[in-house]
Amino acid sequence: MKNYIRSGSLISLILSISLILSIYLPVSSYAAPGDLGEPRSSYDLGYAGELKGKVVILSLFVNTPTTRWDVPSMHETLPVLKGATDYLLLASEKYDAGVSFEYDWSKNRDLRYRIGVRYEADDPDFTDKADETIGELVSSRIDYKAILQENGADSLFAILYFKDEGRSYAITYDGEDIPEETVIMFSDSDASTYAHEILHVFGAHDLYEDAEYTADVVKYIKKKYPKEIMLKPEVKNKKIVSEISPLTAYHVGWIDSVEDIKKYPQLER
Ligand SMILES: [Zn+2]
Repeated sequence: MKNYIRSGSLISLILSISLILSIYLPVSSYAAPGDLGEPRSSYDLGYAGELKGKVVILSLFVNTPTTRWDVPSMHETLPVLKGATDYLLLASEKYDAGVSFEYDWSKNRDLRYRIGVRYEADDPDFTDKADETIGELVSSRIDYKAILQENGADSLFAILYFKDEGRSYAITYDGEDIPEETVIMFSDSDASTYAHEILHVFGAHDLYEDAEYTADVVKYIKKKYPKEIMLKPEVKNKKIVSEISPLTAYHVGWIDSVEDIKKYPQLER
């Protein structure tokens, strides 16, 4: 018993030391994929593979202890999602990707869920807690395979809506963790942000500084594709003015190759 306790304390000590080290070591000390210049790709992986064919989007409205979604406020998200998906459709037509979206929960109630959590959007551990929420949902409440089959769809992902301000992000699947990809949205997100995050689950990469690519690559992208949506999502007069460059078209599977990868192989999908 004593020995057991001792080795237990040793293990926790080692764990605490490695935790401290992982917090204070600069990112560059890890040479694993996913570091700057070594992006991890979610292309053709998970329930949102390539951006082709029929895509089903589930809308999951999350109530926190202080924020509640009522029906009118839930409806306010639909035109924004329509703006984003119409934009993606129009862009995909140039590449004959045959994309269609099924997301309108006002017509198909099976696409809408309401859930409650015990944390707020500004919780310091928000991302971990949101991960946990998604884990619970996909293991107990949502049958992804059945939804794909019922809708005759090729891809499926969920949007988790928080009725608060915050910085949206996408949880993509690169072969580790869960293949049920998710976008986290806040009520102040605009259509270009929706489109940006949706592109992520199909394999698009962040092209701005200090995200996935080294400074020389970012400089090249900024010069060649200044209006690229993965560089900067932008809306003017309620219209998305950012563009989907051939590079992002390649990252989501609309084209098989792009000349940029010859110049910078780290851009390969
Ligand atoms: Zn992004």
